[in-house]
Amino acid sequence: MPTEPIITIEQIRNAAQRLSQLRSAYAQMLSFYGNVFILQEKAKGDIDLEPIQLTPEWQASQQQKNMPLLGVSDFTVDAQVGKQLLYQLCELIESHETDMQASAQAVSMAVAQGKLQSEILFENLLKGNDRFFETSATDTGADKNALAFVAYNSMVPSLELCAGQLSYYLDTAAVWQKGYCPICGSIAGLAVLGEDGKRELVCSFCHHRWRAPRIFCAFCENTQTTQLHYFFAEKEKDLRVDVCDHCQQYIKTVDGRVASRPIYPPLELVASLHLDIIAADKGFKGAVPLNIQS
Ligand SMILES: [Zn+2]
Ligand SMILES: [Zn+2]
Repeated sequence: MPTEPIITIEQIRNAAQRLSQLRSAYAQMLSFYGNVFILQEKAKGDIDLEPIQLTPEWQASQQQKNMPLLGVSDFTVDAQVGKQLLYQLCELIESHETDMQASAQAVSMAVAQGKLQSEILFENLLKGNDRFFETSATDTGADKNALAFVAYNSMVPSLELCAGQLSYYLDTAAVWQKGYCPICGSIAGLAVLGEDGKRELVCSFCHHRWRAPRIFCAFCENTQTTQLHYFFAEKEKDLRVDVCDHCQQYIKTVDGRVASRPIYPPLELVASLHLDIIAADKGFKGAVPLNIQS
């Protein structure tokens, strides 16, 4: 199957349906997350952001040092669209049987009443201000993780568009030899093997996909073949877990050469939670907090 990035709502819907047929235990979660991702894709059409401009000197110096173009806090978010999406996501959560129902209601109400400003919420998420989330969760009566989930997912369309724009500053055909996103510096959340066997990593924050070496730990940059292994779950040759004996961390990989479905990384992350459990049982740590609410 082609592993080119999925870009239309219809493709997301199709990917969610195919995955649900394949792994029926995830049907309910996939229906929920499919709707989250569709709302995000729809919101992109309304986003109005100034392009982030980088000087050629900055670009050259970052490239020379193998450093990312920017930091997470440099991203820009369309606060208006983010706020609308926040309301839509809260409404969606409230209509699904999830642990976040009460929190979603509390967040939505706090924003509507002006007790919580969505713009400030987004700003603090970009700054990684954990304290702000703790205080806001207490003040609004929402669960802190649920608040972060809603805030982050409301920003995703802006983040993806920023990453897309910034990717023009990169040589995307080149293999990036570092274990972090060449755009924002965050760690990879998922790996995808293309039909041609080329390996891509997907950023856990801005969702940028970049070419990575095949034999390479995405976290500690280890290239020792004797220390890098992978395992499959029974009957799932399209999914595997790559593990590193050096740093004891793992990354899930979708093998596009075997998968007979369109691959949408955010959905693949959801429909493979059983592999996180197996990896943890084997003593490996996930580098990225899952931030998936069930
Ligand atoms: Zn990134
Ligand atoms: Zn490692």
